[in-house]
Amino acid sequence: MQKIFQVGSKTFVLDQDKAEAAFAAKKVINGRETMCFNLLPLKYQWAYDLYRKMKANHWEPEDIPMGKDIEQWRDEKTVSDVERWIIRMGIGYFSAAEGIVGDNIQHVVRELVTAPELKLVLGRHAHEENIHADSLLYMIASLGINPHECEAMFEDVPTIVRKNEFVTRVSKSLRREIDLTQPENKKLLAKNIFVFGQCMEGTQFYGLFGMVLSLYRQNKFPGIGQMFRYTLRDESNHIEVFRNLFMDLIEENREIWTTEFKEELRALMAEAVHLEKEFIRDCLPVNAVGLAVEEFVTYIDYIADRRLEGVGLAPLAPGVKNPLPWLAEMMDIKKEQNFFEGRVTEYQKASSLNVAHDDDL
Ligand code: FE
Ligand code: MN
Repeated sequence: MQKIFQVGSKTFVLDQDKAEAAFAAKKVINGRETMCFNLLPLKYQWAYDLYRKMKANHWEPEDIPMGKDIEQWRDEKTVSDVERWIIRMGIGYFSAAEGIVGDNIQHVVRELVTAPELKLVLGRHAHEENIHADSLLYMIASLGINPHECEAMFEDVPTIVRKNEFVTRVSKSLRREIDLTQPENKKLLAKNIFVFGQCMEGTQFYGLFGMVLSLYRQNKFPGIGQMFRYTLRDESNHIEVFRNLFMDLIEENREIWTTEFKEELRALMAEAVHLEKEFIRDCLPVNAVGLAVEEFVTYIDYIADRRLEGVGLAPLAPGVKNPLPWLAEMMDIKKEQNFFEGRVTEYQKASSLNVAHDDDL
């Protein structure tokens, strides 16, 4: 079917069949290579919806006051050394981790996926990792922590090194010309998407999130706590982006979804959980006020199983209950009234594009 436009003396013919063929060729991987960023018609509606949700949550680190945090950081009496150590571990781990996630999106995942709407949401995702990395700079500068100390944290603390090695391992193998028609290579990408979304952002971020928010609940380091809450809200969208990406990749490439592959992914999650528990024991070498190390360890089992179930995999520790129910409530910041006051609400503009699937070209 063709649609003809006559404008002045010129005639333009638009071919609906060609457009439909282009739409049909949209794929997570191995889709049609095109020089146009043809977002419409959307095939992966979820990607555009999440993109909009993510940008409506925009925040900037400098909007968060750090005065109270600075005061507490310097005051020997208000916060204990254990509590200060948690903040150091948080800053040390995330300074490296946020960059690793952003780099993997830009140089691996966004390079390999072919549908433009997937690239769109991944671009936003990478940008949010930059905001997170920047928020850590802001915390370091505010508290007056020597930046070399922060670098040393991820070079010298073995449990941080091991967590970083675990994720960069599945990223390195994809930084080359790779033939994604080969099932083995499809599995490498699926593994990468699973490890980064469900194991790292979905599970290995949650030990420290929990600890920092425990402090926040006791009115300790309110600025840092607020930034972690915003980060956490972003991470929940990132986990969802990577979960959807993973599910659609599997759906379009069913041949890789074998029993062996499922077990391989579960084993990777088990490794992630093990590394996170070791890390938690380094963050919290002794129990502190309102922070019991065993609760955080159990929380990791709980959250890891939610991630596995989210992608249709069997849990590792079935029946484990959430030992920190208050955390779920604190993470849900959508309910807050006047969440963003002042100029931040300015970011929450409706999209100019109201997308409906229009069959008529
Ligand atoms: Fe992040
Ligand atoms: Mn993230």
